[in-house]
Amino acid sequence: MSGKSIADSQFDRAANLINLEPYMRRILCSPFREVQVEVPVRMDDGHIEVFTGYRIQHNGARGPCKGGIRYHPDADHDEVLGLATIMTWKTALMDIPFGGAKGGVTVDPKRLSKLELERLTRRFTQRISIMLGPYRDVPAPDVNTNPQVMAWILDEYSSRHGYTPAAVTGKPVSLGGSLGREEATGRGVMYVMTEYARDFGIPLQGSRVVIQGFGNVGGHLARLLVAEAGAKVIAVSDVDGGVVNEKGLDIPALLAHTAARGRVSEWKGGTAITNEQLWALSCDWLVPAALGGVITKEHNARTIACKVVVEGANEPTTPTADLILEERGIPVIPDFLANAGGVTVSYYEWAQNLQQYRWTHEQVNRELKATITKAARPRQAAGGNAPHGGVCDRAAEGGGGGAASGKLRAEGRQDGRTEPFRLAVFPSSFSMAASPAANTASDTHPDPAA
Ligand code: NAD
Repeated sequence: MSGKSIADSQFDRAANLINLEPYMRRILCSPFREVQVEVPVRMDDGHIEVFTGYRIQHNGARGPCKGGIRYHPDADHDEVLGLATIMTWKTALMDIPFGGAKGGVTVDPKRLSKLELERLTRRFTQRISIMLGPYRDVPAPDVNTNPQVMAWILDEYSSRHGYTPAAVTGKPVSLGGSLGREEATGRGVMYVMTEYARDFGIPLQGSRVVIQGFGNVGGHLARLLVAEAGAKVIAVSDVDGGVVNEKGLDIPALLAHTAARGRVSEWKGGTAITNEQLWALSCDWLVPAALGGVITKEHNARTIACKVVVEGANEPTTPTADLILEERGIPVIPDFLANAGGVTVSYYEWAQNLQQYRWTHEQVNRELKATITKAARPRQAAGGNAPHGGVCDRAAEGGGGGAASGKLRAEGRQDGRTEPFRLAVFPSSFSMAASPAANTASDTHPDPAA
C-alpha cells in the first residue's frame, strides 16, 4: 500500500467520523488538476534520455497550490498524488493560505552529473511552467532536491515570466530564500516533539532518539535535538545503512562526515548497522525521516520498540500498521503535523518575497514555533478551557492514536459532537478580490452549492 491509497484510507476514516457529505468527499479525494510530462534530456555523452515527470495540484480552495518536487526512481503518479493530497491537509492544519500540490520526476539523480541534473530540472520546469506561478502553484524542495535545484527552477521560470522570486521556495538565501528554511522541517519536528514530551512525560532532555534518514529532515532534526533539546540521538541511517552508539552519536562530526560524501554506516563514532536492524532498536522516539511505507504490518509494526513514532517523512506508516501501533499503545505523531515546519517557513519565504522584505532567522524560528505549536493544540489555540487539548493529548487518552485518528482530531470538531461537517468550498470570509493568495477563478474548484 502506498501513495494515494494510504492518503485515501486515512481520509475515509476521518470523513466517516465527521459524516462528511458525499460531494465534499468527491472533491477532496480527487485532484484539481494534474499533468504528466515527457522530459527529454541530453546527457553528457550526447545521447538523449527521456524521463517522466508529474505535477499534481490537489486542491487550491485556500490559496495557491504548494508542495515539493521529488526526484526518485519510485516517484510515480500514485505517489505524487498521495503526497499532493497530504499537502492540502498540512497547509489547512497550519492555517496558512495555500492549497496542496506535489511534483516528481522518475529518475535516480545519483546517476546524473550536475550538468545533467540542471538540464533535467530546466526541461521539467519548462514543461510544467504553465501550471506554476506565485498565485497559482509554488514548488519547493523534497527528496533529492535542494536549494540549488530550486535556483534552477526560479531561473527557468523567471526567464519566461520575468524575475519572480515568489514562484518557488526553498531557494538559496542569496536569491531571496528565507533564513531558516533549510532547517525548518527538522526544527518543526523538534517543536512538535517538545509539545508531545510534556504530555507523555518523556522529557526530550536525555531521551533516546532513533532516526531513519539523514538528509534535510533527519540531519537537521538530529542536530537540533542534540544542540537545543539535550536529547541523545543513539542511531541514524541513510539509504546504505546506519550507525548506533548507545552513549549518543556525535552529530556535528557525523554531519561533517556525510557532508564530505561519507556514508553514515562508515562513520567510526559508532557501530555499523543495517536499516533492518535500526527498526529493532529500543528507544523513546523513533523518527522515520526518509521515504513512505516503511512501517508496515508485514515488516515491523509488531516489533518496533519505541514509545512514540514521529512521522518526519510523508506517509511512512501504512494504515494497517497504524492500527497495530494503536493496539500496542504506541502513539504516532502524523506527518501532516510533524513535518509541517517546511511548508510553514516556505509560506514565510513567499510572504517575504511578495513584500520584498527579509525577516531575521530569530523571527522565522519564533513564528514557526508559534504556528506549529498552535496547530498541535487547536482547542487551546481556539480559547478552549482544556490546558492540553491538542492532537497529543487526545492520542494519549485513546492509549495510542494512529496517524489517521490524529489527523481527524487535529482537524475535526473539538467539542466531541459529530453532526454533519459542512465546509463551504470557499469559506464565507474568503474574498477572491481581497485575498492576494487567491487564484484566478478558473484555478479554483467551483462551489457546487453556489
Ligand atoms: P533528502 O533527500 O534530503 O534525504 C533523504 C534521506 O533518506 C537520505 O539520507 C537518504 O539516504 C535516506 N534514504 C533514502 N532511501 C532510504 C532507505 N530506503 N532507507 C533508509 N534511508 C533512506 O530528503 P528530505 O528532504 O530529508 O525528505 C525526507 C522525507 O521528509 C520525505 O518523505 C519528504 O517528503 C519529507 N519532507 C521533507 C520536507 C523538506 O522540507 N525537505 C518537508 C516535509 C516533508
